[in-house]
Amino acid sequence: MAPIARKMTTIWWSNGLRIYTHEDCLQHEVAPGHPENTERLTSLITQIKSSELAEHLLSAPSVEARDVLAAHASSHLSFLESMLPEQDVVAVDADTWMGPHSMSAALHAAGAVCAGVRDVMSNTSNRVFCAVRPPGHHAERNNAMGFCLFNSIAIGAHHALQNEHVERVAILDFDVHHGNGTVDIFADCPEVLVCSSFQHPHYPNRKHDIKRPNIVYSPLDAGTTGPQFRKIIEQHWLPALASHQPDLLLVSAGFDAHQLDPLADINLLEDDFTWITELIVDAAETYCSGRVVSTLEGGYDLESLKSSTMAHLRALA
Ligand SMILES: [Zn+2]
Repeated sequence: MAPIARKMTTIWWSNGLRIYTHEDCLQHEVAPGHPENTERLTSLITQIKSSELAEHLLSAPSVEARDVLAAHASSHLSFLESMLPEQDVVAVDADTWMGPHSMSAALHAAGAVCAGVRDVMSNTSNRVFCAVRPPGHHAERNNAMGFCLFNSIAIGAHHALQNEHVERVAILDFDVHHGNGTVDIFADCPEVLVCSSFQHPHYPNRKHDIKRPNIVYSPLDAGTTGPQFRKIIEQHWLPALASHQPDLLLVSAGFDAHQLDPLADINLLEDDFTWITELIVDAAETYCSGRVVSTLEGGYDLESLKSSTMAHLRALA
């Protein structure tokens, strides 16, 4: 009797997607009629809670001050603390507002990314998404702007570099606006690769001409379609990732390049967000054991924000 061939099977314990959010991120106050409003996150969280991903939701911790100060000047932190109102809202700049919950919201948004970094580096999970607001990628070392108070993804990257197993990080930013803050913070930090695709010319129109080997700009003409976007990303980002060999991928996930978004003129669809998420996951599997921490940046059409974020989450999961 022939021996029964026993196929060796590897049991892969997928530790699953974690989705961090925080009540104060829902409360962060802005001026009436502002596109970056509470409704963005309440409708997204409602959608997640009614989906198969509901059980993945967790409450985010706040960030440690030392992590904030790795990315920002202490004068920036003290400036925002001095601006924090006890009631109503105040303008930090023409676009960027703070109310009584805003400091806590921004600290929890950054804390979510740092918690995600700890999760993926400890193999508690290999994919994390931070469903938070305010967004962060426009916040420079010493400058709040573009709806952003603290640069959550930059704080998370610095937090990751504190880990003895992390020598290099890549930040992939597909928000429709240039991640000027992230470039400002990492222009002289070769350990961090920053790849940013953005409509150009368009807001914020700054920090997109700093030439560094670790900074990759992917400017997009108004009207760019999904196929054109995919070609540019493959041409620009894949060689940069191969050369950088990151130990961790961080993602500034803005969904305002969707064709329905009111703040820009790029024509991506949900399938394109699935595509770029799969590209990011593939790169993470190639270079860094699948470790991805993604955080919400822009996306101002409520329906396409929800559907595009769900496409991103399902491709991450
Ligand atoms: Zn944006």
